[in-house]
Amino acid sequence: STRSTSTEFASPTGLFIGGSWGEARSGETFDVLDPATGEVITSVADGGVVDAEAAMAAATQAQASWAATAPRERSVILRRAFELIIERTEELAAIITAEMGKPLADARGEVAYGAEFFRWFSEEAVRISGDHTLTGDGKNRIIVTRAPVGPCILVTPWNFPLAMGTRKIGPALAAGCTVVFKPAEQTPLTALALADILVDAGVPDGVVNVVPTTDAAGVVGSWMASGTARKISFTGSTEVGKILLAQAAPTVMRTSMELGGNAPFIVAEGADVDRAVDGAMVAKMRNMGEACTAANRFFVHRPLAAEFADKLAAKMGALTVGAGSADGVEVGPLIDQDGRAKVQRLVDDALDRGARAVVGGTENSGPGYFYPPTVLDSVDSASELMSTEIFGPVAAVVPYDTEDEVISLANDTEWGLVGYVFTQDIDRALRMGERLEVGMVGLNTGLVSNPAAPFGGVKQSGLGREGGKVGIDEFLEYKYFAVPRS
Ligand code: ADP
Repeated sequence: STRSTSTEFASPTGLFIGGSWGEARSGETFDVLDPATGEVITSVADGGVVDAEAAMAAATQAQASWAATAPRERSVILRRAFELIIERTEELAAIITAEMGKPLADARGEVAYGAEFFRWFSEEAVRISGDHTLTGDGKNRIIVTRAPVGPCILVTPWNFPLAMGTRKIGPALAAGCTVVFKPAEQTPLTALALADILVDAGVPDGVVNVVPTTDAAGVVGSWMASGTARKISFTGSTEVGKILLAQAAPTVMRTSMELGGNAPFIVAEGADVDRAVDGAMVAKMRNMGEACTAANRFFVHRPLAAEFADKLAAKMGALTVGAGSADGVEVGPLIDQDGRAKVQRLVDDALDRGARAVVGGTENSGPGYFYPPTVLDSVDSASELMSTEIFGPVAAVVPYDTEDEVISLANDTEWGLVGYVFTQDIDRALRMGERLEVGMVGLNTGLVSNPAAPFGGVKQSGLGREGGKVGIDEFLEYKYFAVPRS
């Protein structure tokens, strides 16, 4: 049956609609691959448009009663889901590593990070509040209330298969919204395991519906056109984000978009190089570089550039590459052959334009989609990887001379998610941070993601924020009552 667990993993493999597990109406399934071997792990029901419509109908039907559920009850359910995720850390980490490739230690880290969104939003569910003021002339009361936006479409990528789901499901459920959720086709098992946990936590039927599919455009397109969905929250490429924004227009749907990035990592004049290298290891190597927050361009003050590149190369070159499930591995495979081929193409282009590979630079042979940690020195700023999200373990180092120059290089991109600045000079730190066109700044740190912080970008990196005090706002409407005083 679709609920029964495969021998290796405690993950369901069916569609989850209206509180029940089932096959796709077509009977079709698709294979989930292990990126460390390229081999099939298991297969999962391949939802089609008919299934998508059933999921949307279930979410729509459950909306009113879920919105009417007491905030404390929604809070308790999310808190229980947080605790269950933590309890099942090993099980979930094994699933994440199997279908996505990251080392087990990192997968455990993702479980902790992903669970935290449920704890955070369980705490926010009971703190949704409005306002009560008077009009300027004192003649009218203004009573402001908040209400859930309605059924939501959630679409997530494969790089953080658990956390990208909880980051959307947490605030949606806290706000009183029901959801239809389409995980990335590379990583459906984590999403289905999460659905299983939500059931155990007490989420009522129809409140969360999960439809894995190989027909993303068909399934999500049917939701966008349904007329009953009131909101889409998407994390993925800028290209697909733009398609969804266009599809949101006919129904004037609310949108939250977490799109691509092209993060600059600036090692400023007089910076502590060792500290910058440590920060770079996190900003570059977290998730094998497969993160929208990954440092994509390293701008290093010219007198420090060679030392920085050499020290970074020494650390990156010393990392152990291998299957994520093996002991001691620090760098797993990339997600698939397309992902790896793109990285190699970008590296070759930079080398053709005069860059030097201090370490790495050639893809590994043999099975699995491995790519060695690579540091490129003396990169020409016209290289394609300067304007393309690398999504792999490749650090491109570009020397610069003046602060004005580096700010203009850093801002010379359509994206604006995050920027990293390393300097011991507080004036310089704040001045540069203010001049960067980004939604988030890492000052002397390579990690900005945290459930308590408002994550998101400017320019073509997206719309809206996830996490923090404002994260729940994305799923709430304002309603104001005008009440004359008499
Ligand atoms: P990535 O490069 O990280 O795979 P994508 O933007 O292609 O980024 O994928 C992110 C999510 O968007 C995935 O769940 C994917 O299936 C989904 N997706 C891809 N194309 C479409 C589409 N045309 N409409 C809706 N969702 C899509």
